[in-house]
Amino acid sequence: MNPDTIFGKIVAGEVPADKVYETDNVLAFRDLQPQAPVHVLVIPKKPYQTAAELAAAEPALIGELIAAAHEVATAAGIAETGYRLVVNTGKDANQTVDHLHVHVIGGRAMSWPPG
Ligand code: AMP
Repeated sequence: MNPDTIFGKIVAGEVPADKVYETDNVLAFRDLQPQAPVHVLVIPKKPYQTAAELAAAEPALIGELIAAAHEVATAAGIAETGYRLVVNTGKDANQTVDHLHVHVIGGRAMSWPPG
C-alpha cells in the first residue's frame, strides 16, 4: 500500500479529477495527458501499489477493476471498435504513480508491440 501518491489525494478529494465512473471500491478519471481520444485511468480506491499486491489481498477487486474498465469503454463508445488496457508495473514499464491504475485507451487504431 502507498497512500502518499497523487491518486490517493484524488480519492481523498484533495486534488481535483475529471471523474467518469465511481463505485464504493473503484474510481475512474480522465488522464491529464491523454495518449488517445479516450484515455481514462481506473484505480482501486485503496492504495495498492501493484496488481499483484491487490490480487494477493483482494482478488475479487481485480474483477471489479476490469469490469469498471469495460463500463468506461462502453460509456465512451469504444467497446465495439476496441480498446487497450495497460497496467505499467515498475521502473522498466514506466510506472510513474505508485498507486495501481489501469489505463483504458482507445478511439484510434494502435500498433503492437509498444515501444
Ligand atoms: P503510468 O506511467 O502508468 O504510471 O501512468 C501515470 C499516468 O497518470 C500518466 O498517464 C499521467 O498522465 C497520469 N496522471 C498523473 N497525474 C494525474 C492527475 N492528477 N490526474 C490525471 N492523470 C494523471
